[in-house]
Amino acid sequence: MSSDRYVNFANSDMGRRLVKAVGLPTPTRLERWQAGRLRPIEGTLLISAGPLADQVRLFAQRLTDALYSFGSEIPGASQWVAEQDPRLKAVVFDASPLQDTAHLVQLRDFFKPLLRNLERCARVVILARAPGTLDDPIAASAQQAVEGFSRSLAKELRDGSTLQLLQVEADAEDQLEGALRFFLSPKSAFVSGQVLRLSAGGAPVPDWSRPLAGRRALVTGSARGIGAAIAETLARDGAQVVLLDVPQARADLEALASRLGGQALTLDISATDAADQLREHLPDGLDILVHNAGITRDKTLANMTPDLWDAVLDINLDAPQRLTQALLDSGTLHDQARIVLMASISGLAGNRGQTNYTTSKAGLIGYARAMAPRLQSRGMSINAVAPGFIETRMTEQMPFALREAGRRMSSLGQGGLPQDVAEAVAWLSQPGSGAVSGQVLRVCGQSVIGA
Ligand code: NAD
Repeated sequence: MSSDRYVNFANSDMGRRLVKAVGLPTPTRLERWQAGRLRPIEGTLLISAGPLADQVRLFAQRLTDALYSFGSEIPGASQWVAEQDPRLKAVVFDASPLQDTAHLVQLRDFFKPLLRNLERCARVVILARAPGTLDDPIAASAQQAVEGFSRSLAKELRDGSTLQLLQVEADAEDQLEGALRFFLSPKSAFVSGQVLRLSAGGAPVPDWSRPLAGRRALVTGSARGIGAAIAETLARDGAQVVLLDVPQARADLEALASRLGGQALTLDISATDAADQLREHLPDGLDILVHNAGITRDKTLANMTPDLWDAVLDINLDAPQRLTQALLDSGTLHDQARIVLMASISGLAGNRGQTNYTTSKAGLIGYARAMAPRLQSRGMSINAVAPGFIETRMTEQMPFALREAGRRMSSLGQGGLPQDVAEAVAWLSQPGSGAVSGQVLRVCGQSVIGA
């Protein structure tokens, strides 16, 4: 895997002095989840008042033992005083009571005193209602306004801190714990400025230390890069993993599969008999399907040959669609299954020289949106994850200037790691994450591309 030497240099003793003298940005070394860690938050959690915050209070002691309130009395929490009480590792603000324009000043009143009191890599989550679910246009406008505020404040946070907005539907309050265990912990290190909707539909998670226990997962393209990190993370969380990659990658694939106690399957997903082979190798069915395998064959459209176009569309878009349908039709995918498609932020934004790739990735997003309601009655979810710049062999091959721009043009000022994408996939694969379906989760450090 390639490494971001600038982050290492800017955080060394000499580098720090030099970078400051020349006025260059210093991207913070991001905290990441270490296997074996138990608590999502190591430090102080501050929560506001409000009906959604009340739901958070019910499980907040499982997230951290340092719970504070701000702006109103909350049972079980001490009142937090700026400059006096500990710095904050995590903040939850309930914006759902903001019903009109005059209420919006509460966003400023709540957050302004906190901003100089955040720890490094702090996590902020704003809870709100989905504007489209509200009858009153003024209330819907206020809840939409919260989105603009959230995306801007995410850009103003420093030192590796992140902020997300979760729009919680009326019957989805019991799904908050799984989402907050992800968004308030280092698992979401490279996710910021995102807006996600939680709906009813998740199943309970009996053991938060192994949320995927008893689930069988297939990860395509898992011999290396992001796919390998996904297989490793799903196994860490208790899943039995089947790793799939092309025959040329057999050695790496088998080595990783044996380390993870999983099964290796060499197969080209675009082969005509791929669906039959998959069904044959999965007699016990599947609970988690991660379509990660993908390729780039970059050329401007003027120079795009039919083989470059076809290879990318076949592998990136047609194969995931065909295999998903075959596994649904054969009953291989169990009820409550979780399906994750690996898109890309360039599928949202477009990218010069990548008409084939971005067509395929946008197509995956469309497939997730269209399939979600069709799979709902079986308790299944389907989502797209859209990575930004991730340090892998794929991005190592980019021209230097493009690669540097990709790394720095985001709120976190650096590329992400395969683990960051893997954590997002692992969260969406949990039984409780049925509350999220038909959506796109960007793992891009709030990249300015396709924002
Ligand atoms: P990678 O090239 O390092 O790994 C991709 C894996 O997929 C390889 O092991 C490859 O052998 C396998 N694969 C390719 N074609 C296959 C086929 N026909 N059948 C089975 N396996 C096949 O890439 P990566 O950077 O780890 O990317 C993984 C996914 O993430 C891809 O879908 C990619 O488009 C997406 N993505 C990556 C980035 C990034 O910054 N690295 C950004 C956005 C999206």
